[in-house]
Amino acid sequence: MNSQAPPASPRGCLDAPVLKQRGQHEVFCGLTGIIWLHRKMQDAFFLVVGSRTCAHLLQSAAGVMIFAEPRFGTAILEETDLAGLADAQEELEREVARLLERRKDIRQLFLVGSCPSEVIKLDLARAAERLSARYAPHVRVLNYSGSGIETTFTEGEDACLAAMIPALPETDERQLLVVGALPDVVEDQMLDLLGKLGIDNVKVLPARRADSTLAVGSNTVFALTQPFLGGSLAALGRRGARHIPAPFPFGEEGTTLWLRAVAMEFGVDLTLFDTVTHAPRARAKKAIAKAAERLNGKRVFFFPDSQMEIPLARFLTRECGMEAVEVGAPFIHKGVVGPDLELLAEGPTLAEGQDVELQLDRCRKAQPDLTVCGLGLANPLEAEGLATKWAIELVFTPVHFYEQAGDLAGLFSRPLGRREVLKLEAAE
Ligand code: SF4
Repeated sequence: MNSQAPPASPRGCLDAPVLKQRGQHEVFCGLTGIIWLHRKMQDAFFLVVGSRTCAHLLQSAAGVMIFAEPRFGTAILEETDLAGLADAQEELEREVARLLERRKDIRQLFLVGSCPSEVIKLDLARAAERLSARYAPHVRVLNYSGSGIETTFTEGEDACLAAMIPALPETDERQLLVVGALPDVVEDQMLDLLGKLGIDNVKVLPARRADSTLAVGSNTVFALTQPFLGGSLAALGRRGARHIPAPFPFGEEGTTLWLRAVAMEFGVDLTLFDTVTHAPRARAKKAIAKAAERLNGKRVFFFPDSQMEIPLARFLTRECGMEAVEVGAPFIHKGVVGPDLELLAEGPTLAEGQDVELQLDRCRKAQPDLTVCGLGLANPLEAEGLATKWAIELVFTPVHFYEQAGDLAGLFSRPLGRREVLKLEAAE
């Protein structure tokens, strides 16, 4: 799509060897997802059943909310709960009763498991079932785990959506379900594009409100907008829905191929497709080209963190002229990222999982121009002279589809610009 794009071999990195390492890894836990999910689902409340550490993580990730009553909180497990001296189930039920009495606006309540609740084996599924029966039909209570035991932070959204899928009503309608929490403005742009292509029966998971007409069945086809939704993909398959595999809608090329895959499924005429996408494609290309001036020819190294690494490496190499040295991902699910892997030219080390010390050694040896990593690694690497990009920003910033393509490239070019300024200042 880009004249500078390296020619990908027929299957790109799809069959490339994967370096698999297990060891200490540096990631946030799945509770982090609550920060963007509670903004998206406007009548949901996320009740973390956890420790004071979990409460602090949420508070610091969310910042201080002064004007709005937050729609998440922590039911703190005290030492007596952890030691098995108190009935944590009873305490949780009391806490939920107090919350629902005070907050009549809540229509969906998620009990979110944490490391402490898992360690004491608190059965949140049973609690959710009992509470759902008590508060139905006004409130639906579901549970999922956001614990940091063997997870990475984006798994929280996947676990949340996967928990909602079995509870969705059945439908026979032929419909498109778009899966992944996008900022409202981006979701509206996507719906507008699909509408112009004549694809009108579109539902989005998660819906903004619980009373949406969201349902699923064997005539449902679905497209993912985030590459970390493997559990949701499996849950939708169990409901008879069919996945439309496609590269993820990052950048002009990714967006066009994502839309094209959906358009082909619905038999959209190619001339109409070209007419609808022509102008936004041109805008996206122009916006990317501006940011790509600084990225062109630079080398990028991905630590495994957001699970967005493979589609982003595809975007940066094919649309921004970068070279990928290593692309690390917490998990490589070829049923999800296969189309992106096919487009990623052979060359980079593909790594799944992490042994952070070994990976740091490889990164220091490679001396990439840009390192994409978690917050915990970014500051030490900056201090060593490497330019870094925090992976978590990629989920807090609107980056999908055509109108955000320039901003996405900008997220990667800014750290390089900052480093150039610092070098200039140091030289003066
Ligand atoms: S869920 Fe686990 S990793 Fe996450 S804040 Fe709580 S204790 Fe820490």
